Formats: sequence, structure tokens, C-alpha cells
Amino acid sequence: PISPALPPATLRRMSGRAVLVTGASRGIGRAIATAFATGGDRVAIHHRGSADLAGRLLAELPGEGHVVVQADIADPAQVRRMADEAAEALGGLDVLVNNAGVFFHHPITEVSYEEWQAAWRETLDTNLVGAANLTWCAVRHMSRGARIVNVSSRGAFRGEPDGPAYAASKAGLNALGQSLAIALASQGIAVGTVAPGYVETDMTNEHLKSPRSDAIRAQSPFGRVARPEEIAAAVLYLASPESEWASGTIIDLNGASYLRS
Ligand code: NAD
Repeated sequence: PISPALPPATLRRMSGRAVLVTGASRGIGRAIATAFATGGDRVAIHHRGSADLAGRLLAELPGEGHVVVQADIADPAQVRRMADEAAEALGGLDVLVNNAGVFFHHPITEVSYEEWQAAWRETLDTNLVGAANLTWCAVRHMSRGARIVNVSSRGAFRGEPDGPAYAASKAGLNALGQSLAIALASQGIAVGTVAPGYVETDMTNEHLKSPRSDAIRAQSPFGRVARPEEIAAAVLYLASPESEWASGTIIDLNGASYLRS
């Protein structure tokens, strides 16, 4: 059973919501953490091994009450410890954003069998099983009105020829979100998903400097890729009190790509 970590009266006295964002030290996660803090929420900035970056973000975030938490999302014991630490520090959890993720380049005709297996295992353990495990832990610190938002990818719908494990992990994340939207509705918890295409971050840095970069930008009639802040805005909506009716949806955030081919 899901029980609030603190009585509602205590929660109401604290300002803002308690938000845990994974992979928050850089890229999209950093933009998400910043958007919540700017709106007056208290953020647990999760990182795996970037204490410096996470500490710098902690110092820069507007507002008060933010904390830094650390865990390898692929390690179930670390995930549970981290969720408990975040909930303890923030006084429960109102929002979980499963943003941490990895992409491995592992084309089927080019990599060894060992490399193939390693890419599949690490990708699924992080992007899908890690998110599922953290969600299990987080809902035990949530009460009615809480929100879970998963950061998926366009690859879930359209495939990733050089990163099939990534595409499969994100398709799984979509299915996890839809399943938990049904399972948690009676608890008053909504679960939403955003599925961006290319976003300007470290993950896409090399692609966006490669000879293919013009073609990548041309996928959208806007002639560019997304900025992390544009993904954060959709996450903020799915985490808002008004988003209950959006539970189970997957927002395809792709700058009008694919509409004219
Ligand atoms: P990024 O590489 O800058 O950020 C990923 C974050 O996840 C990093 O902070 C990294 O440390 C963390 N992470 C990875 N493995 C982890 C692990 N085992 N334990 C803990 N943390 C771990 O890339 P990004 O673009 O900011 O990606 C954020 C999310 O957005 C990812 O889930 C990614 O799949 C998704 N996404 C990105 C794009 C894009 O074009 N950049 C498009 C669609 C979806």
C-alpha cells in the first residue's frame, strides 16, 4: 500500500513539491530540474558519478531545499537507497522524473556477439529496468496527486538501426508508463511520457557535428533539433496538478517532423 511519508498537513507547510529527477546533472535532466526549481519546487538532483556537475547545479538552482542524490540506476540496491534518501531529505515524493538513459552504438552487422550482449544488458538495465525499479521505490513515498513522468524517445516508434537496444528499451518504457497509468489511477497518481526526437545534448553531440547533421536538422520543418528546455516544458505539464487526464499519454515532441514525407 502507498502511504504518505509525512502527514498532508506537514507537506502543505513546505513550499513547493518534492521532485526527484534522474540524470539531472546535465542535458535534458538538468533543464528539467531547473524548470521545477524555477517554479518553486524542491528538487533531488540525481547523478551517477558527476558529483561536481550536480553540486554546481545545486548551487545555481533558484529556491531552497534542493539536494543531491547518487546512484547507478542499473543497480537495484543503489536505486532503493537513493529513493529513500531523496524522500527522507524532501519529506516524501510528489513527482518522479525517470530521465536517466544511455545510448550505445551497436549495429548488428558490425559488433561482436559479446559487444551485442553487453549493449543490450546495460541499455535495458538502465533505461527500462532501472526506471521500473525506481518507480516501485518512489510510489512508496507518494500520496494522491503525485506524478510520474518518463523520458522516452522517438526511437520507440521509429526504430534505431544503430541502437536497437535503445529503441527497445524506450518502447518498453512507453509500455511501462501506460501500464502504471492504469495500475496507479486508483491511488490518484498519473503517469505520463514524453518521446522527443533529436535534442541538443551530450548524447547527440557527435551526430550533430557529423556530415549527417544537416539531414538531421532538416527532419523538422523548423530546420533545427530540440532544445532541452522544450522537453522540460512538456515534463512540467505532465507533472502538473492539471495533468491527471493526460495519464497514459505519450507526447510525441518532434517539431512537426514526419508530417510531410
Ligand atoms: P545525457 O547523456 O546528457 O544525459 C543522460 C543522463 O543519464 C546523464 O546524466 C547520465 O549520467 C545519466 N545516466 C546514464 N546511465 C546512468 C546510470 N546507469 N545510472 C545513473 N545515471 C545514468 O543525454 P540527454 O540527451 O540529456 O538524455 C536524457 C534522456 O533523454 C535519456 O533518457 C535519453 O534517452 C532521452 N532522450 C534524449 C534525446 C536526445 O536527442 N538527446 C532524444 C530522445 C530521448
